[in-house]
Amino acid sequence: MIEGKLALVTGSTSGIGLGIARALAAKGADLMLNGFGDAAAIEALRAELAREHGVRVDYDGADLSRPTDIEALFARIAQSGRAVDVLVNNAGIQHVARTEQFPVERWDAVIALNLSAAFHATRCALPPMQQRNWGRIVNIASTHGLVASVDKAAYVAAKHGVVGLTKVVALENARTGITCNAICPGWVLTPLVQKQIEARAAAAGIGTDEARIALLSEKQPSQEFVTPEQLGELTVFLCSEAAAQVRGAAWAVDGGWTAQ
Ligand code: NAD
Repeated sequence: MIEGKLALVTGSTSGIGLGIARALAAKGADLMLNGFGDAAAIEALRAELAREHGVRVDYDGADLSRPTDIEALFARIAQSGRAVDVLVNNAGIQHVARTEQFPVERWDAVIALNLSAAFHATRCALPPMQQRNWGRIVNIASTHGLVASVDKAAYVAAKHGVVGLTKVVALENARTGITCNAICPGWVLTPLVQKQIEARAAAAGIGTDEARIALLSEKQPSQEFVTPEQLGELTVFLCSEAAAQVRGAAWAVDGGWTAQ
């Protein structure tokens, strides 16, 4: 189904995005990787994915917190004679602080990347998808798109916004071959969460192992992390024909977090 199609996975140089990119490439999708990091490491990753899966893999370092960068990224793809068939809006950042102390600049940065980038990429991706009457948009929201936690005003607002955006785009394209869904992961052990574990360990004067267990125990009943590989396989399913009538869903993958 996605063999030979082009998948743009934002923030795919690390963590969940990389897991999703790997899973899509394993099914034969060509990739446009995106994200920050060491140039040599990214090139090694690009070459490894292409070699391992026999697909075309390109990389674009667009800063998705800037709408003009997103437009330029889609213009470059169009200039290469291709169009995005599968858009995975994944790039995201976190900042943790009480609302009354939340730095305004961090609020703007989290909203720009975690919410507005998904809107800008979606509006750029849709017209060519509509011309071809096929497309898959998968938004990586979060458990925090469904419920809240303290100290995460910008993140929770952005992720709830992404779930809302997902529903609107799904409805506007309901009579087409374009679907739009959100995945809402609980804790996944990536650099984004590792930073929170280290901050928690420092604040409580405990080791990182203890902080990791405390973090899981507080919210995630399975007490196991969700993996990027599991989220990759779910994304592959959402891109399949079997998922053609999954539209506007916010699919929890959270070890039972939101069942409580
Ligand atoms: P991560 O830090 O491992 O990866 C983030 C990716 O985004 C990296 O590739 C990074 O280079 C890229 N990125 C950062 N700023 C960017 C920018 N301005 N432009 C383009 N790319 C940029 O984080 P992760 O945990 O893999 O998170 C990926 C997504 O999953 C995020 O949207 C996050 O909110 C969401 N999520 C994560 C968890 C978790 O527990 N890790 C849970 C639920 C949802």
